[in-house]
Amino acid sequence: MNNNLISSEELSNAVLPHNLGNFENIFHSANSEHYRNAINTTTDLVQEFLSRNKKPFSGIEAKEMKEKVQQIDLDQKLSTYDELLAEVDDIYVKHATAFHLPQYVAHLNCPIVIPALAGEILVSAINSSQDTYDQSAGGTFMERKLIDWTAKQIGYDVNDSDGVFTAGGSQSNLMGLVMMRDCFSQKRYNHNIKMDGLSPEAGRFRIFVSDKSHFSNLKNASIMGLGEKSIIKVPTDDRFRMDISLLKKYIKREEQLGNIPIGIVATAGTTDFGNVDPLEDIADIAEQYNIWMHVDAAYGCALLLSEKYRDLLNGIERADSVTIDYHKSFFQPISSSAFIVKNKRELLILKHHADYLNPKEMDEEEIPAQINKSITQSTRRFDALKLWFTLRMMGKEQLAEYTDTVIDLTKDTASMISEDPDFEILSDSDLSVLVFRYIRSDIEDTNALNLFIKMKLFYSGEILVASTKVNGNFYLKFTLLNPITTTEDIHQILTTIKKHGKDFNTEK
Ligand SMILES: *Cc1c(COP(=O)(O)O)cnc(C)c1O
Repeated sequence: MNNNLISSEELSNAVLPHNLGNFENIFHSANSEHYRNAINTTTDLVQEFLSRNKKPFSGIEAKEMKEKVQQIDLDQKLSTYDELLAEVDDIYVKHATAFHLPQYVAHLNCPIVIPALAGEILVSAINSSQDTYDQSAGGTFMERKLIDWTAKQIGYDVNDSDGVFTAGGSQSNLMGLVMMRDCFSQKRYNHNIKMDGLSPEAGRFRIFVSDKSHFSNLKNASIMGLGEKSIIKVPTDDRFRMDISLLKKYIKREEQLGNIPIGIVATAGTTDFGNVDPLEDIADIAEQYNIWMHVDAAYGCALLLSEKYRDLLNGIERADSVTIDYHKSFFQPISSSAFIVKNKRELLILKHHADYLNPKEMDEEEIPAQINKSITQSTRRFDALKLWFTLRMMGKEQLAEYTDTVIDLTKDTASMISEDPDFEILSDSDLSVLVFRYIRSDIEDTNALNLFIKMKLFYSGEILVASTKVNGNFYLKFTLLNPITTTEDIHQILTTIKKHGKDFNTEK
């Protein structure tokens, strides 16, 4: 073993572009050739991924995948990048899901744009940390400018609004709920939860969401000490949007039970159905009760830029806070998300002074610190730079065009499915989700039939679709996010689905 290790180290020195002793791996001007070669070699693998992958998935089973990874001895180092990339290709890249292919129609994973990937190179190499000005001077103001830009798209007055980039929609939703809870407690009871913890009333706080809202609301409520019981799920209408008359009823019912409504989370684009809750109606009710309105627009934020479909978001500007997921709907690589709040003074409720980072005596306006706005991250990537690259190279019009194309494609696909007697469509969508199933008159167990189709597709890797259950029934689900996908691609996907559907039973 020991011998082996020594010889591989010697080899490593021999094959690196420069022999810089023990420090050849440090990112430093002395090693810039090493950096360039490492990046270029890795980029070659990316290109291979693009040119080689004709299917969205290899179809490998978890058991085999696990074995491949387990076999590797992490304490036996490799000698060259070629060896490393061959290894990583074998256990990762070859089996990575290719979100950019039209045959990937499963989850909310958008294809990503090249300017953002170029930005990513700078994000990781310069490695600014967005917590304080002294760790990211330009980055602090660039992030702020993008937050203002996003707030403007929402329809907020940018002099009053504020926000911060986050790790994802779940975290942004957490910020929305924390602000909802803490501002309510402060205003109604003059009780400061940040300093004093939950008050006795908090056990009766209730937050209203639709029963198709994202599960992060439940998780967040439990982290916050309110318990999942604090989340009241309001049933949805025939288009899977929050039913407003039931919302009113549920609020009244909770009040009668002695509970305390503190806010409503509207979903602008549900994960499963892609529909937007009635935002104006929800805003009316939140106003009437003087409670917080948070809009989870993790998915639906794409519509902010669209002229054609923007009116679906009417009322979003009345919300107190909004979740934006650029990595769901702005063609950004993971992670790229934001939490935006209408009233920046309210965001101060989260602020904490750490003497070594943002001591009290530092005037916020003179020495800005984004850490004041971040709830669970101190060291934080400059993800905003990817969006900067994207907007500056593409402009918001082109992003909007991509979104419109995808929504139009979804409408065409909905027609194709509806008109085909082999399919039964459950829901079309404001955005780009379709829920449907394959039916066969001679097969009673439609659930088994559709599950069979989904598994066939998955392990052949030719097409990746998602699924969902509605009233105990199993449905196939398309999430269309790729503007490159054509109706011809969709036609082929549907044909393949039918082919497997016809095989059911005969080959089972
Ligand atoms: C995906 C999603 C989230 C969670 O966002 P992450 O970035 O995955 O944490 C929240 N809400 C909705 C509606 C989503 O679709």
